[in-house]
Amino acid sequence: MVFREVIAELKAAGASWIQFDEPTLVKDLESHQLSAFSAAYAELESALSGLNVLVETYFADVPADSYKTLTSLSSVTAYGFDLERGTKTLELVKSGFPAGKYLFAGVVDGRNIWADDLAASLATLQSLEAVVGKDKLVVSTSCSLMHTAVDLVNETKLDDEIKSWLAFAAQKVVEVNALAKALAGQKDEAYFAANAAALASRRSSPRVTNEEVQKAATALKGSDHRRATTVSARLDAQQKKLNLPVLPTTTIGSFPQTVELRRVRREYKAKKISEEEYTNAIKEEISKVVKIQEELDIDVLVHGEPERNDMVEYFGEQLSGFTFTANGWVQSYGSRCVKPPIIYGDVSRPNPMTVFWSKMAQSMTARPMKGMLTGPVTILNWSFVRNDQPRFETCYQIALAIKKEVEDLEAGGIQVIQIDEAALREGLPLRKSEHAFYLDWAVHSFRITNCGVQDTTQIHTHMCYSNFNDIIQSIINMDADVITIENSRSDEKLLSVFREGVVYGAGIGPGVYDIHSPRIPSKEEIADRVNKMLAVLDTNILWVNPDCGLKTRKYAEVKPALTNMVEAAKQIRAELAKAQ
Ligand code: GLN
Ligand code: ZN
Repeated sequence: MVFREVIAELKAAGASWIQFDEPTLVKDLESHQLSAFSAAYAELESALSGLNVLVETYFADVPADSYKTLTSLSSVTAYGFDLERGTKTLELVKSGFPAGKYLFAGVVDGRNIWADDLAASLATLQSLEAVVGKDKLVVSTSCSLMHTAVDLVNETKLDDEIKSWLAFAAQKVVEVNALAKALAGQKDEAYFAANAAALASRRSSPRVTNEEVQKAATALKGSDHRRATTVSARLDAQQKKLNLPVLPTTTIGSFPQTVELRRVRREYKAKKISEEEYTNAIKEEISKVVKIQEELDIDVLVHGEPERNDMVEYFGEQLSGFTFTANGWVQSYGSRCVKPPIIYGDVSRPNPMTVFWSKMAQSMTARPMKGMLTGPVTILNWSFVRNDQPRFETCYQIALAIKKEVEDLEAGGIQVIQIDEAALREGLPLRKSEHAFYLDWAVHSFRITNCGVQDTTQIHTHMCYSNFNDIIQSIINMDADVITIENSRSDEKLLSVFREGVVYGAGIGPGVYDIHSPRIPSKEEIADRVNKMLAVLDTNILWVNPDCGLKTRKYAEVKPALTNMVEAAKQIRAELAKAQ
């Protein structure tokens, strides 16, 4: 009904084309869903008559049965496919496309920041022209341009060589136009030649290839990279050294990022303050955060991450193979925007990245200080990734770089190391058939980072977002000693997995309160949550912690919330002791 009204209004306003975005068609739809899809378009048939109707799909291949359903809709006159991420769809189109309909061929990747291989795209388009007819082929990007940066013109600091390899939204539109003109017999030879030269320079650039890294990454294949002993043996060895109470308390890493801290980092970056002034300011902040945690009587401390602007950018800036834009913003969710790093070359770690700060923080306290790293999968998933090798290869390279950092932290006397994989779940492919492959290399990458540490070194990981139930086996397979995980916003859905009998022996800290809200949880409320968890999980594996980092909160919220959290833990410890 609503669609009919909207269509009528658009018609009245003079629209001759209407695009329907139906990316859901790339998922594995069941036959009743496909029937509902056909029925919906049949319903709209009369409303749509006289209009050109484009149905756009993107982000993956369209499964064969969905392709069949889609291309037999009589109310639709044009189909759009993502031919970058959907190479099988290309084969489907070639094996049969309805006569007289338009094909919007998404040959220019709308999601990355790389210049297109124009010669290859032109060849694809020419082969499609033979199938759908010259006047029915439309050149397009693979999806909307909201997932790429806006305009390279705004990048004055990127060096010219790397810049020549890139195309942001504005440049992608020019590419689409040049391809369409070339198809129509007006090929801009100079433009195509410049593109071919840029591609060749990227392929042969010594900045892209690091033989040593390539060799090390290749050598990983075929091995499992699993720590030698079981998690329960490791937890015992760690406990002997760490001597923690039951229900140990900790936080996820960051403490409030104040205006003053941001100023210090900004001025240091702009060389307005000296290295020494910067180091002193950060040292003072770490010392403040350590003192607060000791006063709160938290068991495993963090340094608070005052030196970090962002958990991916901070590492990217110190790794080889990464570069940064000045204005390459993209929408992340809602009104939140991010500026992802660009991974253009083989990744290596020239120098330790966090050891200096972690050792400094550990020297300030007798309690264990958690080393704090971002994991390879999260670095990968929150960056623009190179398209000249499979994602998993880039991920393995990052994993090797993080492995070195883990080992340097361990050698520096850090006994607990947290490797955040906040975005692991986020990288799940849309097609279920691709889940297993992704989870396999993602989880493997995580294990690579810490397979070499001693039993007594405790490896934590942290994951954001709810709905872990479907990937719980992969989480277990990460083989971390302790996982802290978001739980408080998902109505304890997580716990239902354990209620259903999943065997889990590692330490686990389902967040006891939501850090995304300024609300201060009471001690009773937290104790209630912990008790609910104790009903499902063994006492000796449960940790007590907030559900994510505290950087977006104010001290006025953080201090009372953590006070209540520690008190709740202590109260339950006392009750447990009494019950024994
Ligand atoms: N260690 C990070 C922090 O506390 C983790 C953030 C995240 O999970 N997104 O800020
Ligand atoms: Zn988190």
